[in-house]
Amino acid sequence: APVFHARGLSKTYVMGDVEVHALRSVDLDIFEREFVVLLGPSGSGKSTLLNILGGLDAPTSGEANWRDHNLVGADDAELTRYRREHVGFVFQFYNLIPSLTVLENVALVTEIASHPLNARDALALVGLEHRLDHFPSQLSGGEQQRVAVARAIVKSPDVLLCDEPTGALDYETGKVVLAAIVRANQQLGTTTVIITHNAAISGMADRVLRLGGGRIVGEERNPRRLSPD
Ligand code: ADP
Ligand code: ADP
Repeated sequence: APVFHARGLSKTYVMGDVEVHALRSVDLDIFEREFVVLLGPSGSGKSTLLNILGGLDAPTSGEANWRDHNLVGADDAELTRYRREHVGFVFQFYNLIPSLTVLENVALVTEIASHPLNARDALALVGLEHRLDHFPSQLSGGEQQRVAVARAIVKSPDVLLCDEPTGALDYETGKVVLAAIVRANQQLGTTTVIITHNAAISGMADRVLRLGGGRIVGEERNPRRLSPD
């Protein structure tokens, strides 16, 4: 059975007398341990889909379930609990706490998660075991984003959602960050959905979904998925 199941999923934003159809009747299943990439032009609905999956945004109509959680009609408290217990996020900007060290930034999450990993193990997985006592300002952008990846995976989320995680990085640095995300998916089995334009991702994903105008307009499966290293 899929972990995420959506049928006829739609999201309409109403602004005054203008309606924006961000998602138009999307059908989608995502399976456990899958690594899925969302591609498509700006405005095609990628972030909207990711935000619905992550309980940041509620759909307008249709069905959307994460396992036995119904994401349609859930109230804010339910969505907050869903996000906290099940979802890890990585955004374009790292949002690390500047006054805390790398280890402290990640360890903070282990105090509130119900079944966290060890913070040092999460940092080792992203290749930062030698930066534990540094402050964010002492790290490169790519290293800061790898801390953000460690912070997202340390709570052992059911799903890791990444929205343009390499958007502020150059291609080569972005590639290292993507490799860390792929490694987390392969070693921890974390189901992962990522929006990225970095071409290094091709070959590393199980499936690429192409969005256009709020619809899924293409799907490619990768029979021979590559290892990140
Ligand atoms: P993408 O991530 O592919 O760039 P988005 O999901 O961000 O696309 O946006 C899809 C469409 O929905 C766009 O037309 C965008 O302008 C619109 N949209 C997204 N968020 C909002 C919002 N909060 N209010 C109004 N319109 C929005
Ligand atoms: P975009 O790609 O559309 O510029 P972001 O990727 O920064 O936007 O954010 C996508 C969504 O996630 C937005 O609705 C934003 O409010 C929310 N968001 C961004 N950063 C965080 C965060 N650190 N924690 C929770 N929600 C966030």
